[in-house]
Amino acid sequence: MPAFWTESDYDAHERVELVHDRASGLTAIIALHSTHLGPGAGGTRFWHYADPAGAMRDALRLSRGMSYKNAMAGLPMGGGKAVVLLDHDRTKTPAMLAAFGDAVEALGGQYVTAEDVGASEADMVAISQRSAHVCGLPSGEGEIGGDPGPFTARGIYLGIKAAAAHALGAGDMRGVRVAVQGCGSVGGGVARLLAADGAELVLADIDGARAQALASELGATSVPADQILVTPCDVFSPNALGAILTDASIPQLACRVVAGGANNQLARAADGALLAERGILYAPDYVINAGGIINVSLEYLARQHGASVDMEDVQGRIDQIPGRLQTIWQQSEATGRPANEVADRMAQELIGRA
Ligand code: NAD
Repeated sequence: MPAFWTESDYDAHERVELVHDRASGLTAIIALHSTHLGPGAGGTRFWHYADPAGAMRDALRLSRGMSYKNAMAGLPMGGGKAVVLLDHDRTKTPAMLAAFGDAVEALGGQYVTAEDVGASEADMVAISQRSAHVCGLPSGEGEIGGDPGPFTARGIYLGIKAAAAHALGAGDMRGVRVAVQGCGSVGGGVARLLAADGAELVLADIDGARAQALASELGATSVPADQILVTPCDVFSPNALGAILTDASIPQLACRVVAGGANNQLARAADGALLAERGILYAPDYVINAGGIINVSLEYLARQHGASVDMEDVQGRIDQIPGRLQTIWQQSEATGRPANEVADRMAQELIGRA
């Protein structure tokens, strides 16, 4: 594994832990970007990486994104993220989860974990047997906490409506054509909310059967995963993995808006300017996809620190996402700077790194 501080994505991260537990076979990276506003909060991704350097880049980029996301959402949390490097079959054992829980606990609350791609509520329960610094734990009906996916999906849905109004003048989602990449927890939730509003949906997933099943449930159409990015639509909504907006893919987009939940959609910050040059409105990923971390952060603050918060607080904070996007788009239009740069600057100011 190359030294993390030579990576171009290293951004003065406060701490980067490489965890290897020989007994369980766990290999993980925990990256803490900033604890300026509070403990570094961000989920754990369980993934098979073709090479360890890719895992390191993911951890560095994702943890910086969490600093920005938590700051922009007004949460008293810093930014952290973990990746667990799985084998090709993505084998995840109870012993690995226990060892990972020990690694989180050893950081003494500087890092707070939750679900990300490849993780379930059951995984968080297993990790919580070894560490108190876990959120996204199962919750009862109407209680905060639990799977962040539906909360993330709701924020994205509200953000897409705001983007459609801003870029297309759409009063509602009826007949607005949305291409959804990824039909998992977030993409599936976004698609269901949009379908209920009468949007015209095109769905894709590398698990083609998953996309087809969701399409038949919602009366939508599905296309092969390699077609979704070039599908003509009003809104392209990336809800799979990151780095899908590149100097090669952006010229192929056939949409007016990019608004979705995947973290780190832009391969490079400079790609935001390419979107702007094409007249495509971009909803910065870490602003639009903050719903889940809002929910689980408040769950953590209530459990660990006795904060008095309820579902109304969670929903109220998620409802602020469209207004935050509007502010970014307005500043972007007023200054001629791409939306991602405007948002980055705002976030950097909030975490004392402007
Ligand atoms: P998930 O694992 O439930 O779903 C991801 C889906 O994307 C899967 O169905 C997978 O098959 C599909 N996929 C992967 N690569 C694809 C590709 N190239 N083309 C089409 N489909 C592809 O994960 P999720 O929780 O829905 O997260 C999706 C994205 O949203 C991730 O980038 C995640 O980091 C981000 N995110 C999630 C949350 C949350 O609350 N779950 C919060 C913020 C951001």
